[in-house]
Amino acid sequence: MKLVFATNNAHKLGEVRAFLGNAIQILSLEEAGFTGELPETGRTLEDNSLQKTRYLYQHTGLDCFGDDTGLEVAALGGRPGVDSAHYAGTRNTADNLNKVLQELAPYPDRRARFRTVITLVLGGQAYQFEGTVQGQLLAVPQGHEGFGYDPAFRPEAESRTFGQMTLAEKNCFSHRSRAIEKMAMFLGSKGPDHPA
Ligand code: IMP
Repeated sequence: MKLVFATNNAHKLGEVRAFLGNAIQILSLEEAGFTGELPETGRTLEDNSLQKTRYLYQHTGLDCFGDDTGLEVAALGGRPGVDSAHYAGTRNTADNLNKVLQELAPYPDRRARFRTVITLVLGGQAYQFEGTVQGQLLAVPQGHEGFGYDPAFRPEAESRTFGQMTLAEKNCFSHRSRAIEKMAMFLGSKGPDHPA
């Protein structure tokens, strides 16, 4: 089975391909011949995930999936959440991370979670799958692996941040791999004859 992944983020593409192995063939936007911009104007992860994936399906007619992910910080009332990609006003990752860490500095409660919502569009029908991972934000980021907020995020019961883990280690319990696993189980349960 082939699915197009509605993302321009090479890290996300690498994570999902590594997680799924040969189970499902994942095409990048480029491989699918899609060169447009994916819209992302919703106010929830669910809306954005659906919006970008539906758009890709409408413009290619190909079965596809997309993810929208947010870092939800408890002491900040769930911010940056759906605004994670441009929290500091630009798409600059270091600025976004610095802004979150500065806002969090006065609070002893460092709890945060990543939440991913995957939308799968199969034959025009949309399905959503959620994955979360709980953890803490460190005041001083550690490591250079991963991307985005990874160097500051230490998953629960772990001694290292996502920024200190290999891609395979992060995939063992990341928000994205948990959501992708649910999608893969759903696809498996549909059996080989499901229209695709
Ligand atoms: P989006 O899902 O591409 O809109 O990502 C939202 C923001 O969260 C971006 O700034 C990403 O860098 C960040 N982000 C998304 N997934 C992850 C992740 O797995 N680790 C760390 N940061 C992430």
